[in-house]
Amino acid sequence: MTATNVHKRFGKHEVLKGVDLRVEPGQVICILGPSGSGKTTFLRCLNFLESADQGELTVDGQTVNFNKVNQKDRLAIRRKTAMVFQNYALFANKTAKENIMLPLMSAQKMSKSESEKRALEGLEKVSLLERADFYPSQLSGGQQQRIGIARALAINPDVILFDEPTSALDPELVGQVLGLMKDIARSGVTMVVVTHEMQFAYEVSDQVIFMEGGVVVEQGTPEALFYHPKKSRTKAFLSRYM
Ligand code: ATP
Repeated sequence: MTATNVHKRFGKHEVLKGVDLRVEPGQVICILGPSGSGKTTFLRCLNFLESADQGELTVDGQTVNFNKVNQKDRLAIRRKTAMVFQNYALFANKTAKENIMLPLMSAQKMSKSESEKRALEGLEKVSLLERADFYPSQLSGGQQQRIGIARALAINPDVILFDEPTSALDPELVGQVLGLMKDIARSGVTMVVVTHEMQFAYEVSDQVIFMEGGVVVEQGTPEALFYHPKKSRTKAFLSRYM
């Protein structure tokens, strides 16, 4: 996936001022930055949950221009990506299995039986097969997020976008979700992860991006960014964590 010169404004507030990102197949990119720097908005633009005002996006060989994308291309690209949300975004009135099946049947046009098979495989991958018929309210936050991750994996997308996937979790549940994400990263899934989990970003990323004020301030390998940051803004941000 490649995004070039992404701009987005909400009224007078220009939230993204020309953001670039390139993630190669199988790579993991983590995006760090202070609250309000535009990380979530950027991720949502990549999945058309927000419409960017300007810029270009290429996913799996298909390129669109944000300010003149038609509905057909938008849907085609959306089908190639999946998103994992901070608040899980599960349907409360659907079971774990049904939550995974829904996008397979609606967006991916898969049959019910094939979707069910995929959903059960997905549940097994996140070690929740025995919770297939539980409703979200019967699951812990960590389990709900693992269902959110299984739903994204089941689509078999070109890239999975993770938006602060552990920030709503109780501290003791964060580890199980980060552990699962590490396994997924090792299995070769392409991931873009907005996170405040510095240790995870250091261990798992191929590249780390530091964003502030709607621009990429600095990008590099975890080693370079965490231990040899070049920009004073990056140093100041990291010093709060390290
Ligand atoms: P955090 O780490 O706190 O989630 P972030 O870096 O992800 O922050 P965003 O959520 O992308 O930041 O928000 C960037 C800015 O855009 C903020 O000032 C926010 O108030 C503003 N913003 C986001 N969504 C909207 C919206 N729908 N309408 C108006 N302003 C918005």
